Amino acid sequence: MEKHTTVSGEEMERDFGSGTIQLARGDITKESTDAVVNAANESLLGGGGVDGAIHRAGGPAILEECRAIRARQGGCPPGEAVVTGGGRLPARFVIHTVGPVWRGGDQGEPAILASCYRNALRLAAEKGLRSVSFPSIATGAYGYPVGKAAAVALSTVATFLAEEKGAPPRVRFVLFDEETLRAYRESLASL
Ligand code: ADP
Repeated sequence: MEKHTTVSGEEMERDFGSGTIQLARGDITKESTDAVVNAANESLLGGGGVDGAIHRAGGPAILEECRAIRARQGGCPPGEAVVTGGGRLPARFVIHTVGPVWRGGDQGEPAILASCYRNALRLAAEKGLRSVSFPSIATGAYGYPVGKAAAVALSTVATFLAEEKGAPPRVRFVLFDEETLRAYRESLASL
């Protein structure tokens, strides 16, 4: 599946099908990809971590849209995804997905985490988006071990890029800390 691997400084990228996965360290609220993905919670009403950062930086328009979605469908179950505008963020859209709370790994967590990535990418593909940035879903407050999460995240995205015609050609993982970036780099290298 692989065509190309580049490692320069901390950044790394690898091609799958007609798409590229890029790894970078940074703050996802600064990303100017077509969409950024939010690690939301089921309420869609905001929270800590990356969720708090996205709502703070993007302003109240995002929360307003989340409230409207919640009124319509009653929140977002783990593994599913919904889309709003990007408010004041550089990204045009925010795709909100809800990761699994880690309960030891035998409660369906890997399948739910894989669904997060697939459903977010499906929404991006439906909108014809060319680039999407993901955080490391579920590895903060939700407690998913980062090495295991990286393997699920990267294999799911790589498969989607290789198999789905409308997939966004550029998928970035924007990782907040060194340890998370290292786990994703190791996982991408061994895919
Ligand atoms: P979850 O509840 O799904 O575990 P968290 O937001 O608690 O989500 O954490 C997910 C990951 O996002 C963690 O690695 C955390 O360090 C990271 N994170 C927090 N803020 C940002 C940000 N501004 N940009 C990118 N990643 C972030």
